Amino acid sequence: MDELNPFLISQIQLDKAAEIMNLDKAAHAILREPMRTVEMQIPVKMRDNSTKLFTGFRVLYNNARGPGKGGIRFHPQENINTVKALSAWMTWKTALANIPYGGSKGGVVCDTKQMNDIELENLSRQYIRSFGSLLGPKTDIPAPDVYTTPQIMAWMDDEYSKLVGHNEFGMITGKPLELWGSEGRFDSTALGGMYVLRELSKLAGIDLKNAKIAIQGFGNAGNFAFSLVKKLFGSRIVAITDSSGGVYSEQGLDYEKLQNTKKQTGTIANYENAEKITNEQLFEIDADIIIPAAIENQITKQNADKIKAKIVLELANGPVTPEANDILFEKNIYDAPDFLVNSGGVIVSYFEWVQNINGYYWTEDEVYKKLDAIMTKSFNDVINTQKKYQDKSRKIDMRSAAYIIALERVAATMKIRGWY
Ligand code: GLU
Repeated sequence: MDELNPFLISQIQLDKAAEIMNLDKAAHAILREPMRTVEMQIPVKMRDNSTKLFTGFRVLYNNARGPGKGGIRFHPQENINTVKALSAWMTWKTALANIPYGGSKGGVVCDTKQMNDIELENLSRQYIRSFGSLLGPKTDIPAPDVYTTPQIMAWMDDEYSKLVGHNEFGMITGKPLELWGSEGRFDSTALGGMYVLRELSKLAGIDLKNAKIAIQGFGNAGNFAFSLVKKLFGSRIVAITDSSGGVYSEQGLDYEKLQNTKKQTGTIANYENAEKITNEQLFEIDADIIIPAAIENQITKQNADKIKAKIVLELANGPVTPEANDILFEKNIYDAPDFLVNSGGVIVSYFEWVQNINGYYWTEDEVYKKLDAIMTKSFNDVINTQKKYQDKSRKIDMRSAAYIIALERVAATMKIRGWY
């Protein structure tokens, strides 16, 4: 078996939880595969007037509980297995948060670092021309993910509105405020993760003010995690990496300086007066908390043993493989699973969609309060499910507990709808 195929990984995680909870066989079979998988060739006009073909995907994993919901990634290594896995994880994420959606995901194989703004805009519009008939506020609702931005959401919404002949703001979320995005959406993935960290550190007996933290990634999730961890808890971030490598400093790293280094040189790896480290070394750092906030398959059976931290906070999607999950569990490390930790993004996306449909907009404070309530409830649901199984003399990890909650909810809806 190719242990790093994310879709197989998502199936292994699902099978494990299904066995523990004794999930109905028919429900299990339905939930092991996506409902709809679409791949298209997308022609895009480039700056030299040539036309380049890009491969794009959109997978609707399950829509029993509501329209498909999930981001679009622009990534050079995108492939159908990553998109299928990410769409499955979106299904469990929306179910755990108990918001009225199913799960889906999209992607395009492309390298945004080699593209200018015009080419990016052309690609974004052409994605909607290709996949638009599958999308809509009642059917399937995209959002930003790795290397996609609010600006890209705005182009996509504009193109979709042209296709259907009227403004359709609720067809995509993570839009800029000028196009009726939601207050608080820009850093909501990281903020949701901070609420989980606040609760989990109490359980783990960690004083966040004196904690040392290492972060992998400086994009939509990692960048905001860095500033929020400092702002909310005053913790010290001793190490950070991006796709080109990173830096370590026992005294802690400076946010402004990191931002400037990235702006001027394209990567935080050129940050001065700190020790250079690789992405592999990041996980061996002497820190209390490690936050993977980049891409999948970063903590594997090769490096899980070297982790010294007490908490792994999965802000990325799929950063820990099943083998690594078991190693961390045996070492009594609190490994808070991705679809709990990073659900703040889709939760505020839900708020954005609700606001778009009603044409009535909330303050930042309202958004934060509602987000905190859902995140804290999800966290407690996971911990209580762990306790419930422990009482039955079966110790289960946090990810399996989260799966059990999500699967119970999706299966119950499919049952009442008569799908099995
Ligand atoms: N791409 C984000 C995620 O993986 C957000 C999805 C959304 O807002 O729909 O959760």
